[in-house]
Amino acid sequence: MLDASLAPATGDGERVNPLRAGIESDRITDPCSIVFFGASGDLFKRMLLPAIWALRLRGILPSGFALIGFARTKYSDQEFRDYCRQQIDAFAPDGSKPQGELWESFAQCLSYITADFKQLTHFQELRKHFEENDKRFGTGGNRLFYLATPPSVFPGIIEMLRRANLDPRNNEQGWTRVVIEKPFGTDLASARALQKIVQRVFGEHDVYRIDHYLGKEPVQDIMALRFANTIFEPIWNRNYVQSVQITSAESIGIEDRGSYYENAGALRDMIQNHVLNLLALVAMEPPVSSDADAIRNEKFKVFSAIAPPRHEDVMSMAARGQYGPGIIEGAKVPGYRGEPDVAPQSNTETFAALRMSIDNWRWAGVPFYLRSGKRLARKISEIVVTFKPIPHRLYGESTDAIEPNMLVIKIEPDEGVALRFEAKVPGPKSHIRSVFMDFNYGTGFGFHSPPAYERLLADAMRGDQTLFTRWDAVELAWEIITPVLDVWENTKDFTFPNYAAGSQGPDTALQLLAEWRRL
Ligand code: NDP
Repeated sequence: MLDASLAPATGDGERVNPLRAGIESDRITDPCSIVFFGASGDLFKRMLLPAIWALRLRGILPSGFALIGFARTKYSDQEFRDYCRQQIDAFAPDGSKPQGELWESFAQCLSYITADFKQLTHFQELRKHFEENDKRFGTGGNRLFYLATPPSVFPGIIEMLRRANLDPRNNEQGWTRVVIEKPFGTDLASARALQKIVQRVFGEHDVYRIDHYLGKEPVQDIMALRFANTIFEPIWNRNYVQSVQITSAESIGIEDRGSYYENAGALRDMIQNHVLNLLALVAMEPPVSSDADAIRNEKFKVFSAIAPPRHEDVMSMAARGQYGPGIIEGAKVPGYRGEPDVAPQSNTETFAALRMSIDNWRWAGVPFYLRSGKRLARKISEIVVTFKPIPHRLYGESTDAIEPNMLVIKIEPDEGVALRFEAKVPGPKSHIRSVFMDFNYGTGFGFHSPPAYERLLADAMRGDQTLFTRWDAVELAWEIITPVLDVWENTKDFTFPNYAAGSQGPDTALQLLAEWRRL
């Protein structure tokens, strides 16, 4: 219980909510012009635009700010402003509607270029637009390119930026940065090819490869839990940890993204990026500082300690699944092969589970189990650290199971940390039962963390790369999963569909681990 007398006092002597102690308003970003390639698309309207508006409402955007939309759909500046207003209305949370003077002044910073990514002249027009923005809005020559487009056009856009002299070397006035949406490549070869193009135009310190998972508050808190406390680190190793499970499960299917998903699958879509990034945060050594590269160096070392599996071992360390028809929240839903734009005999996995080992001093012999899938029993992302069993039984009736201690880091939908431990059931007998100490961010701080894109956009505008993935880690993550991709692509799974929508996933996952935590 927090002692109210410890609550910080405001200037006029009034006490603030003690739960909110320590929560500060965010630092203002650098002045800049940000261009969204793909501004007529889904990601822009649902996530990016509401995030920018929220940054404006929270006073994090500076007065020197301008946003340029860049896509093929035809809009005049005014039509684009109207479009943005409608989308914010539809997708921003209640209480942040675009209205009044604040909206009117914000709308003046929005402009649009009807453009094709293949036309050099449109990028030359963009250059002029930046120069005008610098004069009109005081954006200081700082330019942020956001690639919210299909990945197939990333290389073409970057090449056009170079040809239009929009690269950092040709900007003497301010900084030039690029945010690249996921996926960064569709396999090791395409990721390397993309990187080759990126590095011809941008230095690594100009590149912000986004994995919006890393912007979620509970993900960031993994490091705080480990390195701002003393009680976890001494037992965070092979001597005390039995296994680690990382789950990212969804109850939704592929919605209208069939043609994308057919070429992706769960391994590419979730494991290569989100789930491996979570593993790195759990397994890394303490960084020497909280500096972006100090942290990213440690994440890189974790991936370096994971040997890609041999092809002949894939069957025993990986399990795949594809959902069939089933029931989600009381409603019948079709199987994957019945979804739009999916082949009737598709071999694409909608579920992937892997057992990985990290061959270093801290983790040798500790299995890390990763799983991700669609149309599972419920949406949940969490990390479960299971500790070793007690060495000698003293308490409990003979029928009582004495469960190992377990630390659960909850990422979605709940955000928090729970510790499972054994306790004596009150009464004359010495029954033992598991209980939880449960911390939730919402109730603990009286504050709901802002959506990940808000944090990440603001970080990119401030030049903080901590939560963005560095190329060396992206490359190693692809190397780690490539043998699994190879084997799965070259062998058809005749058991597909092998799990019902709304279930716990395929039985094949139980061959890796019998005690997956129930979804
Ligand atoms: P959409 O297909 O909805 O949007 C694509 C955008 O790119 C449109 O604005 C389109 O313009 C524009 N575009 C495509 N080709 C050209 C071209 N040759 N010239 C000019 N404009 C072009 O994609 P999403 O918004 O769904 O996804 C964008 C990126 O974000 C992808 O990399 C995706 O993987 C990633 N992402 C998306 C998520 C989501 O929830 N949507 C979640 C996480 C990542 P127009 O339509 O006007 O032609």
